[in-house]
Amino acid sequence: NTFAEIDLGEALNLNIRRCKYVKPTPVQRYTIPISLAGRDLMACAQTGSGKTAAFCFPIISGIMRGQVPQKPLRGARTVFPLALILSPTRELSMQIHEEAKKFSYQTGVKVVVAYGGAPINQQLRELERGVDILVATPGRLVDLLERARVSLQMIRYLALDEADRMLDMGFEPQIRKIVEQMDMPPPGVRQTMLFSATFPREIQRLASDFLANYIFLAV
Ligand code: AMP
Repeated sequence: NTFAEIDLGEALNLNIRRCKYVKPTPVQRYTIPISLAGRDLMACAQTGSGKTAAFCFPIISGIMRGQVPQKPLRGARTVFPLALILSPTRELSMQIHEEAKKFSYQTGVKVVVAYGGAPINQQLRELERGVDILVATPGRLVDLLERARVSLQMIRYLALDEADRMLDMGFEPQIRKIVEQMDMPPPGVRQTMLFSATFPREIQRLASDFLANYIFLAV
């Protein structure tokens, strides 16, 4: 019933206290245990429901505990994030980045953001310094993939935020292109969380294409 009772790892639990989060919101109460158990998830969540923490906590906790995998050799400038959070707009990406940075303070987990409508050079420099969690808009990420500056080969966690809005904005081809690059051979396992305010047929199709044996939550 409180975050103190959920073992997310010492550093993350401390950051949650620093943020003055005491009790999980309803979305967090239902989704966090499912994600910590390793299951894929499709959840109904509106803005303001606390969904950012709902997908950030299991990702940060998982990376903190996980073995850091050996990075495959590729171009020296290619980075291999372990988690990807896709969001529709630059504003939302910046907001998620700000929150994720607070949650990952002193955990050793590095968060970087990349969005369109801004010069790419600063983002490239930031990426070169290392990235565990990449927060990105779909168009800018496709650009980074085409430049071979980011590889999705090591992705363990994928979160799609406001998936219905991303489809409304016409990002479905980019999203499919991005996810196609993620499929890892066994024993690699990707855990996927899809958050959306509405569930039209197109979202259900994305879910059945991207999620495995998933739990559907309408809070
Ligand atoms: P979000 O829906 O992720 O945009 O979150 C909405 C707002 O609620 C943000 O300002 C969060 O910092 C805040 N928030 C999220 N979860 C909690 C919580 N469990 N307790 C208190 N505030 C929270």
